[in-house]
Amino acid sequence: MNLHEFQGKSILKSHGVAIQEGKVVYKAEDALAAAKELTAETGTDWYVVKAQIHAGGRGKGTVEETGSHGVVLAKGIDQVEEKVKGILGGHLVTAQTNGVGKKVNQVLIAQDVYYPGESEPSEFYMSVLLDRERGRNIIMYSTEGGMDIESVAEETPHLIFKEEIDPRVGLQGFQARRIAFNLGLSGQAFKEMTKFVYSLYAAYEGCDASMFEINPVLKTSDDKIIAVDSKVTLDDNALFRHKEYAEMRDKSEEDPTEVEADEAGLNFVKLDGNVGCMVNGAGLAMATMDIIKLSGGNPANFLDVGGTADAERVSKAFNIILKDPNVKAILINIFGGIVRCDRVAQGVVDAYKSIGNFPVPLIVRLQGTNAEEAKKLIDDSGLDVHSVVLLQEAADKVKEVLA
Ligand code: GDP
Ligand code: MN
Repeated sequence: MNLHEFQGKSILKSHGVAIQEGKVVYKAEDALAAAKELTAETGTDWYVVKAQIHAGGRGKGTVEETGSHGVVLAKGIDQVEEKVKGILGGHLVTAQTNGVGKKVNQVLIAQDVYYPGESEPSEFYMSVLLDRERGRNIIMYSTEGGMDIESVAEETPHLIFKEEIDPRVGLQGFQARRIAFNLGLSGQAFKEMTKFVYSLYAAYEGCDASMFEINPVLKTSDDKIIAVDSKVTLDDNALFRHKEYAEMRDKSEEDPTEVEADEAGLNFVKLDGNVGCMVNGAGLAMATMDIIKLSGGNPANFLDVGGTADAERVSKAFNIILKDPNVKAILINIFGGIVRCDRVAQGVVDAYKSIGNFPVPLIVRLQGTNAEEAKKLIDDSGLDVHSVVLLQEAADKVKEVLA
């Protein structure tokens, strides 16, 4: 589950990470009061107004309707409302969105933290993530913050550092100090950075995140280290341990069919191919996507219906797959281990009938317990459904119906 910047920052703050403070508003009328409240807390009346969408590159992005950037400064409280109006309700197009952009439903009014002082503010990059190859969390960081980290990785990879955390002992003091050292810090800023790294890592572990990306981490002109941006992804499989984060989910940012599938208890990921598939078990789903590829098609989705493939679930799955106008055929590939194939077959037949005018060819392969009864049930149903036995036959049939 992805979070908005302000939500990620609230988690960081609760674990003691210093952040750029702000107030979120959903209506332009609330901007002035929010800015006043913020000033009372921070003492500054210079602000930065930031669109809250699930995409990065907001600073360089443009709001279609107004031409405003997605992150803008307001130097004085009298400018805040106008800047908010330039962003809120519009569609922000960034390098990470499509051409239509993302509708901005909320805006963060934050304190300007790039104030002048003893030294120049400097921007760093820092992320925490699971390195799946190493099976460990790593802290990735760079002196080249603020900008697009992908181009830093491409052009100057030696400026990206990694610190690997041993799960048996956790983040060690020398590691936090090495990070501060490699970022070229000394004195107060060095101390602040080691504290920052510690609390950031504690936050990452504490909320069961799968990714934190803080770009930029700012050294202020008076040597404070603070998170200016936050991109937080929580591990969906650990969400049950964090009921307090459930309300942070913003369904308007997610693919609507994926939301619907999730509510139906189906494990569904939308893809952009032309063959819908309905499978039980993640491994078989992957194999099925492979045979679709081999037959010259492209999977339109990943869909694991799980253990109970009854009529209701099958029909829900049909509805979700058929929402996609690119789907030209559907392949059902189910192994009846615990669930009996004839029950699944009955489910398929019932669901097929309930949909009425089934719009695309349907290929069904049921293997395992009572597979023969299942095939007979489908063949005798009088429906225009292709039942196959072997994987190869399924692939051939897909090829045939697509031709
Ligand atoms: P992103 O573009 O979506 O990554 O959004 P960020 O939150 O990273 O903001 C974009 C850029 O705005 C940052 O890289 C900073 O350079 C700038 N910015 C953010 N906060 C402030 C601020 O308080 N003052 C100033 N002057 N610039 C800021
Ligand atoms: Mn950023």
